[in-house]
Amino acid sequence: MELVDNYGRVLRDLRISVTPRCNYHCVYCHPLGMEMSDPPGTVTTRDVVHFLRAAARLGMSAVRFTGGEPLVRRELPEMIAAAAATPGVDDVAITTNGTLFRRRHKELLGAGLRRVNFSLDAVDPEVFRRLTRGGEVAQVWDAIELALELELHPVKLNAVVIGGVNDGEVVRLAELSVDRPLHVRFIEYMHLNNAPFDEYRRQFVAGAETRARIEERFGPLEEVPTDPSSPARVWRIAGAQGTVGFINSVSEPFCSNCSRLRLTSDKKIRPCLLTELELDIAWAFDAPDPEAALVEALLAAAGKKPEKGSTLPTLRERVMLGIGG
Ligand code: SAM
Repeated sequence: MELVDNYGRVLRDLRISVTPRCNYHCVYCHPLGMEMSDPPGTVTTRDVVHFLRAAARLGMSAVRFTGGEPLVRRELPEMIAAAAATPGVDDVAITTNGTLFRRRHKELLGAGLRRVNFSLDAVDPEVFRRLTRGGEVAQVWDAIELALELELHPVKLNAVVIGGVNDGEVVRLAELSVDRPLHVRFIEYMHLNNAPFDEYRRQFVAGAETRARIEERFGPLEEVPTDPSSPARVWRIAGAQGTVGFINSVSEPFCSNCSRLRLTSDKKIRPCLLTELELDIAWAFDAPDPEAALVEALLAAAGKKPEKGSTLPTLRERVMLGIGG
């Protein structure tokens, strides 16, 4: 069985946000001063179990836990174990800022986690502090080194490039892929934080520009073949162990290949990151047969997945922190 939307796209990838809370306050993710808590009604492990079983019945096979910061959620290992034990789910990953990774890695690996993406937007401690509004890059780097030691390959690093803030870091970030099997992915800044529109436009940097900066330093990049449904186009600096990738969601939207559905931590399915439409599916978790109800909810969500999202700056009800990246 496959979950196919109205435009013929097969939906295989789930992003589950397990909390809207985060211990970082990245400038691109949410406005200053935004504090969140896990309100009553936040997804539980039981909800995740039912949701994944329903999704797997429809052929969805990859799940990534995100947030907020997924590692602030105490029950994350139980959720990972549930995902790893769901027949049909063959890829279980997390996206994290890495701050709690050393403290929690044993329980995460024990639960079956094999893949981690870290957000790392700068190498320079001052730039990193500015971007994360107070974060310590050394702590994240320590987590990345631990993931390499634990051989959680491929270890991917996500960097959102913001003009005048961390665009001066792209060469140093790309260089991380040379001597270690690290896969650095440069993500175009999307207007998902309700930043003032003119500031956003000023700060936007196209992936082509980032790539040109990297090629200026390291010479022409070599293309690495990738799965066309992956949002990243991947390249290698000559002789490097790892790769550099570009996720050009704004300048080269990849909606026609999108295979994703998102579950927010307050139990809404968001068929498209860049369209505000959400389906409240709290009822399905409380139904007498939650799995059957969730299959129905997922089919309805697939039927509502828009052909395209909009990257134009606009005031959004929910910023990235609450959606789950
Ligand atoms: N707290 C975790 C972390 O830091 O990785 C997971 C949540 S975070 C929202 C997930 C991803 O969304 C990060 O890799 C981040 O780079 C990306 N992201 C957040 N806001 C973004 C924006 N405005 N444009 C592009 N990517 C964004």
